[in-house]
Amino acid sequence: MKIASNIKDLKLYLNKERESKKQIGLVPTMGALHAGHISLVRQCVRENDVCVVSIFVNPTQFNDKNDLSTYPRTPEQDYALLEAAGCTYVFAPGEKEMYPEPDTRIFNFGRVAEVMEGKYRPGHFNGVGQIVSKLFDIVQPSKAYFGEKDFQQIAVIRSMVKLLNMKVKIVACPIVREKDGLALSSRNTRLTPELRQKAPLIAHVLQESTTFAQKHSVEETIDFVIDTINKESEMEIEYYEIVDSATLEAVSDWKGSNDPVGCITVYCGKVRLIDNIHYKLS
Ligand code: AMP
Repeated sequence: MKIASNIKDLKLYLNKERESKKQIGLVPTMGALHAGHISLVRQCVRENDVCVVSIFVNPTQFNDKNDLSTYPRTPEQDYALLEAAGCTYVFAPGEKEMYPEPDTRIFNFGRVAEVMEGKYRPGHFNGVGQIVSKLFDIVQPSKAYFGEKDFQQIAVIRSMVKLLNMKVKIVACPIVREKDGLALSSRNTRLTPELRQKAPLIAHVLQESTTFAQKHSVEETIDFVIDTINKESEMEIEYYEIVDSATLEAVSDWKGSNDPVGCITVYCGKVRLIDNIHYKLS
């Protein structure tokens, strides 16, 4: 495994790989890697000749500067995990390398970027578009891997790929969870032991709500999730919405979507956690 911290070196390596007709896959991350990230890396290794993993805590996608400064950084541990997972190249640039000049691009990804996270984290998806478009341009991957934990992010990236006629195929990978159901996240390390005990409630209630949904309306199901979680002290829902997986349009009737997905954001103490669930209605 080679580690490149600048674009020039990485491009030299990758041009050589392309000359020998190797197919390149990319997994963009912000580091502090856990088994969720590693599942993406393993899939990328399986499906490509060369696996590039980028590690870059992208400042332009943080609308909360405190979140950016406290974001966990564990480079040595990340490299060891990536090596063990079969990664070929790590791209770990500094901020000046990715943004020698401020990125002034403003994207219009349409409604998929305006609802939910778009509403509560203004500018977040524009920053995601800035960094992911740069990474696609540098790496020129055939396939890029994203986790379904950030469900809306995948819809936004797909919209970007269409908008900019990019050639890359976007691969969505399932959510990896702790044994108690909590979706793995780099932010989980910020939970106090007490909050860490409470946090799996999010996944449990979402799971329970799929049974509840068999006999209740969309509106009743949304209320069930919100009321059950908000009852717990130090747990506060920012939003819970049930949307169509492709369009992210709000679903008002179960028959209105082939694949309704419930997307949730909960403040667990000060830590903002996200999760989602597919409703398969019979
Ligand atoms: P991040 O480093 O948080 O930007 O995440 C990098 C990639 O890993 C994103 O595509 C995430 O959706 C994905 N990811 C993060 N956590 C998980 C998880 N628990 N399961 C699957 N994918 C994940």
